[in-house]
Amino acid sequence: MTTSRAALPSIFEILKPAVGPSSSHTLGPMTAAREFVRLAAAKGLGGCRIRVELYGSLALTGRGHLTDAAIAAGLAGYGPRELAGTSLQEVARQVRDAGHIRVDGQEFAFDADRDIAFDATPRDLPHPNTMRCAALNPAGDEALSETYYSIGGGRLAGGSFGRLDRCGTKRGSLSATTVLSECRRLGIDLVKYVYRTEETQHGHSRAAVDAHVDEMWTLMTNAMERGLAAEGTLPGSLQLERRARSLYAHLQKDLPHFHVLAPEASLASIYAIAVAEENAAGGAVVTAPTCGSCGVLPACLRVVEEKMDLHPDEIRGALLVAGLIGAVIAANASISGAEVGCQGEIGAASAMAAGAVCCLLGGTVQDQVDRAAESALEHYLGLTCDPVDGLVQIPCIERNAAGAVSALNAASLAMISGGGDRVSFDAVVDAMRRTGRDLDARYKETALGGLAATPDVGE
Ligand code: SF4
Repeated sequence: MTTSRAALPSIFEILKPAVGPSSSHTLGPMTAAREFVRLAAAKGLGGCRIRVELYGSLALTGRGHLTDAAIAAGLAGYGPRELAGTSLQEVARQVRDAGHIRVDGQEFAFDADRDIAFDATPRDLPHPNTMRCAALNPAGDEALSETYYSIGGGRLAGGSFGRLDRCGTKRGSLSATTVLSECRRLGIDLVKYVYRTEETQHGHSRAAVDAHVDEMWTLMTNAMERGLAAEGTLPGSLQLERRARSLYAHLQKDLPHFHVLAPEASLASIYAIAVAEENAAGGAVVTAPTCGSCGVLPACLRVVEEKMDLHPDEIRGALLVAGLIGAVIAANASISGAEVGCQGEIGAASAMAAGAVCCLLGGTVQDQVDRAAESALEHYLGLTCDPVDGLVQIPCIERNAAGAVSALNAASLAMISGGGDRVSFDAVVDAMRRTGRDLDARYKETALGGLAATPDVGE
């Protein structure tokens, strides 16, 4: 277990506005494309053609994850907030029709069919989600190029985003144990710890943190409401019917007949499915810590909110604790399915939700929150990422339901047991990192193994 003091990512990076279906394959490439074309414009390279090359997992599952549409939207200056009221597909269509993009009064040629290359040739890459952008002058020579790495949850390395840590290496960041010791030393709880570190390490005032988490909670609950109301078929080859609305209606009508578990477990499952379906449809969601796993945390918090009379400060605090747990996982292992498999997405989301619920139930800093997060993550070690047809639908949508129920169970067990365990949260995070490193590439968002390679599943 590391005791070094490298800063954790801000909760603004872990919980942030996004557009589905994937944070690493949609949000990350969109952000990288936007930065690259701005850089090209700042260097006065108008008249160049923009070319984007996608490698590794981005090449193998990028089409199902709308990576090409996201790049077109990013080049056109869009981020998740600017997409409100329109969709990735609509913006990509506009860019396609125009045949160019305009940035700061300069025009760049871009045709997604010609200028985005999905290169799935096996090769040794610094990161499985590697993306190279280039600006080509009229003679076809590269006037500018940058390589970006989409490292999970929409976070990036390369370009102006900072250095890439090699996959599977021990990252030497602040551990949960160190965070808890610091809380004890200062006599503060985890929520106060997050406010303090956001201010001292990331320059975010308490008011800014509150405004951010309030916005994230609104976006989360909006996604859930839309998901519970929507009907029809999700985009993509699977032609998968949305189910959240009908499941919710059945549950309301036949509640007493369905349950071997408490009704809250079914409600959490349906809420998680509602958000995950919105994500699969390319809707506005919040990374928690990723798009693929974005249903787990809001589903758990909504169930507890409905059961207990919570003050908005309590939801804020729970989101801050969830963000802190996600930050520890991102810094010491990974939250990228392409890097460590689904344990880094649904496993991380479940740990975040378990810790957050434990906090809402009154869990103590020292033991119970740590134990809840550990217990939730422990049982996802080795979970494969194997999205059928490269779409964030099967098994992803139902995995959000499973992750939510596991999180509620882990939080309850931690509360009943009073905390303390043979295995620490840090030990499980490190096991996740090592397991992810050893996992075959077929099970890391390539759609080459597991369910994705099972005959008939996609038909
Ligand atoms: S299987 Fe898990 S990690 Fe892979 S795309 Fe789906 S939710 Fe993300």
